[in-house]
Amino acid sequence: MTTIRNNLQRVHERIVTACAQAQRPVTDVTLLAVSKTFGPEAVREAHAAGQLAFGENYIQEAVEKIALLRELPLQWHCIGPVQSNKTRLVATHFDWVHTIDRLKIAQRLSEQRPPELAPLQVLIQVNTDSGPTKAGVAPRDAMALAREVLQLPRLRLRGLMTIPEPAGDFASQRALHLRARLLLEQLNQAGLELDTLSMGMTGDLEAAIDAGSTLVRIGTAVFGGRPVKDATFSAPAGPVA
Ligand SMILES: *Cc1c(COP(=O)(O)O)cnc(C)c1O
Repeated sequence: MTTIRNNLQRVHERIVTACAQAQRPVTDVTLLAVSKTFGPEAVREAHAAGQLAFGENYIQEAVEKIALLRELPLQWHCIGPVQSNKTRLVATHFDWVHTIDRLKIAQRLSEQRPPELAPLQVLIQVNTDSGPTKAGVAPRDAMALAREVLQLPRLRLRGLMTIPEPAGDFASQRALHLRARLLLEQLNQAGLELDTLSMGMTGDLEAAIDAGSTLVRIGTAVFGGRPVKDATFSAPAGPVA
């Protein structure tokens, strides 16, 4: 067994255990393997072990990787910030975008989504701990943005995404994740039909699943440690398992 295959198996075991603990069916939770900084061969290895959905932060790096892996039936999620000058690349190469926090970016993605592709599946990123410098809309602004995104013909709004500050213990991690979960419920009570909550990383996946996550974004536990400053996959520093 390769390391990545082993790692994926361990992550699936963590997800199974967390779902059991939370009394949720394991089919509720999808694993997104975050392959940023890792090369196409790592993605191939994960795919050979059954992994289909991959998350990337850096658009240029991702687009090169996606092109090299075109023959594989993979699903690509953009989980990093999207600047205006990158929307066309994102609209052309990705299946999902988790980081919608401005109408202008959403409008550009909708306009630039190629007609032959399925609508782009999108999530609104919410800044649940109100850090002033962090990406994401304030929870009180999520409803208004969601209603506008729903009008865009080439996007399909699926739910919310959040990246809470790392919190020490399970209870405080869970409390932060619950804010996103409650917000999703509020939006659905107002008539939206959202089914996706993207939250939970290597360090907090159990708390995120307990709070209702449906899509956990796992990098380190699948591919190993990244260089401290996230570099592109062509940089010399390699994965450390
Ligand atoms: C890098 C990253 C992840 C994965 O983090 P790990 O701690 O390595 O699992 C998840 N979500 C986002 C937005 C990221 O940038």
